[in-house]
Amino acid sequence: MAKILVVEDNALNIKLFCDLLTAHGHETEPVTDSRDALDAARAFGPDLVITDIQLPYVSGLELMELLRADEQLCDVPIMAVTAYSAQGDDERIRAAGARAYVSKPISVLRFAETVDQLLEEASAEKAMGGPAAGTAPEES
Ligand code: MN
Repeated sequence: MAKILVVEDNALNIKLFCDLLTAHGHETEPVTDSRDALDAARAFGPDLVITDIQLPYVSGLELMELLRADEQLCDVPIMAVTAYSAQGDDERIRAAGARAYVSKPISVLRFAETVDQLLEEASAEKAMGGPAAGTAPEES
């Protein structure tokens, strides 16, 4: 179970994403207005952020930069979802801080696999940099 913040302005898409994630046992926090996303992320403390790229007000790329610059949220992995996938988009989206991106209309399987992969990577990184590093195991 992971806490996943989902930022998407389209009501049908956000319902689809959250239903999918809930069905996989995750806790979701949906945000439809990107101006609320940073505060919602700080309050929710997500393990993963999924964001649409084409958002009114604060674009997905801008939001990723805000998250990357936030002391509390800078290490949270980001998965982008985008309707357009022109040449060069992949690079631009990754440069803004996304670990992965999925094209819309989404493949349910690919969406779920990408979420699982990012969560696994994040927990492996946490384990490597965790409190066990540099401390001697206790004798039992
Ligand atoms: Mn959108």
